[in-house]
Amino acid sequence: MELRLYDTLSREKRTFVPLDPKNVRMYVCGPTVYDFAHIGNARPVIVFDVLFRLLRHLYGEAHVKYVRNITDVDDKINDRAARDFPGLPLNEAIRKVTEQTGEQFHADVDALGCLRPSVEPRATEHIGEMREIIERLVKGGFAYVAEDHVLFSPQAMNAANSTLPRYGALSKRSLDEMIAGARVDVAPYKRDATDFVLWKPSKPGEPSWPSPAGIKAEGRPGWHVECSAMAWKHLGEHFDIHGGGIDLVFPHHENEVAQTCCAFHRERMANYWMHNGFLQVESEKMSKSLGNFITIHELLADWPGEVLRLNMLKTHYRSPIDWTMKSLEESAKTLDDWYRVAADVAPGEPAASVVEPLIDDLNTPLAIAAMHGLRGGDVGALAGSLRLLGFLSESAAQWEGRKQQASGVDPKEVEGLIAERTAARSRKDFKESDRIRDLLAAMGVAIKDSKDGTTWEFSR
Ligand code: AMP
Ligand code: ZN
Repeated sequence: MELRLYDTLSREKRTFVPLDPKNVRMYVCGPTVYDFAHIGNARPVIVFDVLFRLLRHLYGEAHVKYVRNITDVDDKINDRAARDFPGLPLNEAIRKVTEQTGEQFHADVDALGCLRPSVEPRATEHIGEMREIIERLVKGGFAYVAEDHVLFSPQAMNAANSTLPRYGALSKRSLDEMIAGARVDVAPYKRDATDFVLWKPSKPGEPSWPSPAGIKAEGRPGWHVECSAMAWKHLGEHFDIHGGGIDLVFPHHENEVAQTCCAFHRERMANYWMHNGFLQVESEKMSKSLGNFITIHELLADWPGEVLRLNMLKTHYRSPIDWTMKSLEESAKTLDDWYRVAADVAPGEPAASVVEPLIDDLNTPLAIAAMHGLRGGDVGALAGSLRLLGFLSESAAQWEGRKQQASGVDPKEVEGLIAERTAARSRKDFKESDRIRDLLAAMGVAIKDSKDGTTWEFSR
């Protein structure tokens, strides 16, 4: 069985050949920790968790290394810290913001059934590696110092007569067009409008570190160089897969490639570039101003994490997702059913009908369709397939119990009402039996009559 992945750089699905099958390496850009993560942020986390699980299935758990960083130095973090903790020194306030947000992020993504990555590096713990990359870029003539900033020059990169990739190759943008289209109000310290920041001076009170390249004032890194440094430290100069949301292709990933390839004289940074499509809510772009901005935390108050996970995976990762209440309700029903039939059976090997679409560029909608097909047949294979995809973390009783807890309804009271209804029906008092049925429905209880009696369940 052959894994095929769509690569943003070559714009085609290619057979995945790891650099070293005993050490398959993947880097995914993680969150900037300043606020609750929204449901759009959950998409790359879930998508690349599925890929991580699939790679572990194909190459063995010990042979896959997944790195997802935490960006804990950023203007947005500084602003939030000053707003939320005005009485504290800025550095202490920043620590509080990043700690709280980081813990919340972990709680959220654990609940979504995502495995923790092998390493979760923090930007602030890799300043040394960032300085080293910046020094190399300055020495190589790809970057320069101006007014206590260090800037990367894409034009110097593309002028170099070497095997380096072209700047713009990943995002399919031409540097000439970027130059022509550049804004006029370019920062005065930039030689060219397309130059981007590797290092900048810190304002008083902001986090700061000794600067590279002979700059006396202390400063802090630009965002793009953080990922080049953390990927280098944990995965090496050249690794297998780099992932993130489609919005990161330009400039973030284009700049990561430029920094890493120029610092280490490499033709490539990652062999496969993978990007998830965007998520919108009820057919609208999610934004704070439209009032449809939903955090993972808020959704988890109403839905089990696995329902959110299934809802995300019903759409192929490269397509846009429309996140709707209707679809969530359907996902909840599907999972209720799968828990009933498969949670307590011994899991078999995942079915070939499920693994085959997965290895074809993570076709999760087809894999889910195949699982519907297994439901009436090989439930052992269904259980194994669901576990491969990160479902069935609870027993059927735990799942049902949680629903009852969430509904706040006492099962004994339900049984009592059903007995009253049965009695009403046997004396042909249909008005009363309908009244009780409606009452139960209002409590969120659905009943089903059959020749063997009446069964019931919580409908969400
Ligand atoms: P950010 O915190 O904005 O840097 O985003 C963290 C991750 O979430 C990145 O991989 C983004 O590409 C991704 N992301 C942000 N918003 C969305 C969205 N609406 N849909 C899908 N992915 C998103
Ligand atoms: Zn990144």
